[in-house]
Amino acid sequence: MPASSSDPPRIVITIDGPAGTGKSTVAHLLATKLGLEFLDTGAMYRAAALIALERDIVPDQGYDLGQAVDQADLHFDWKTDPPRLMLADRDVGKRIRDFDVSGIVSRVAAQPELRRVLVNQQRRIAQRHPRLVSEGRDQGSVVFPDADLKFYVHADVAVRANRRVAQLAAAGKSVDQARIKQDIQERDRLDASRSDGPLVRPADAVDIDTGSRSAAEVVSAMEKIARQRLPHAGFRR
Ligand code: C5P
Repeated sequence: MPASSSDPPRIVITIDGPAGTGKSTVAHLLATKLGLEFLDTGAMYRAAALIALERDIVPDQGYDLGQAVDQADLHFDWKTDPPRLMLADRDVGKRIRDFDVSGIVSRVAAQPELRRVLVNQQRRIAQRHPRLVSEGRDQGSVVFPDADLKFYVHADVAVRANRRVAQLAAAGKSVDQARIKQDIQERDRLDASRSDGPLVRPADAVDIDTGSRSAAEVVSAMEKIARQRLPHAGFRR
């Protein structure tokens, strides 16, 4: 259907940054405040890692993995908020946060063939959901280089590890603090060093330190910037 002149404009806001910076939380809150939809691309890479585990595909077999993910019925249920990630009719939202998935996801995400499949899916999602806050590692640099507004979030690794420990403990999972910190550092290293879609701070991104502020404070700073910079975006009031 052609967009009518009264439709609100297409808007993409990207939020990139390393593991444990609270990106998903602030991206979802920001989307809610502004009346946009929310895309968690890390969840898609995690689902790819789950597919690798369940189908015995070695994480480095990028071609096989890309094919398997392309053919799997991986989609979000947009009727829920935040959108729930489904593998066919299975809700995998919780399962993809388990340690076995986290342990291999960055190796999986380093495969160019898989990235090609997921980047295409993310762009197709943005066609159908044209008013979007999208978070990940490469959203502002590769997937949506023309995004209307880009944020890059970061925080000290110790703060990030403490936060993840608290989240997991709240979810009733037993946690080993040293292991979590190591996992985050290893994912940072792999995410920043891969050749395809590495974690980078886009040159035109607004830098946000999430270590010294609460999620609510971070979101309020982002919201202010979005409303100032994009006065004609038709954001929720
Ligand atoms: O954001 P989250 O920690 O759930 O992401 C899991 C992993 O997925 C990251 O460590 C990274 O390896 C990968 N990822 C990616 N590109 C994205 C989003 C996530 O490579 N856009």
